[in-house]
Amino acid sequence: MSEKVFKALNEQVGKEIFSAYLYLSMATYFDSIDLLGFARWMKIQAKEELGHAMKIYEFLYERGSRVELPAIEKPKNTWNSPLEAFEAALEHEKFITKSINTIFELAKEEKDYAAEQFLSWFIKEQVEEEAQTGLIVRKLEKLQDSPTGLYMLDRELGSRE
Ligand code: FE
Ligand code: CA
Repeated sequence: MSEKVFKALNEQVGKEIFSAYLYLSMATYFDSIDLLGFARWMKIQAKEELGHAMKIYEFLYERGSRVELPAIEKPKNTWNSPLEAFEAALEHEKFITKSINTIFELAKEEKDYAAEQFLSWFIKEQVEEEAQTGLIVRKLEKLQDSPTGLYMLDRELGSRE
């Protein structure tokens, strides 16, 4: 496969693992303020991110390339409110979307059709990620610190499978 595409996907493995790390860090924040439903949602999201990393790992293996795991930075671990944490999660997803789009563009340039096809799954996934995180941001904005509203949203997020 194209060396450039390989390098970019290899880096993306690190970015997906960092996403898992960041969301697990957000889970520790939510657990620390007893919002266990929010924490559960973040723990599930962290697992999903590891799944994304593994999906790329397996794809690279199938193409005959060995992943070289990059260093993972320490994630931020405190936020001033649930809204601030979810805004940060949304910002992070936008960053990931940009990253995926850049690799897709590169795959096109390099005429790496298999990578292009593979990345189209991630492009769809990012639409979902931004939509679901964005919806929670908007719900939190509407709550405006209402404890009842926050309790109800915590129950809703805690029901995530
Ligand atoms: Fe992801
Ligand atoms: Ca998802």
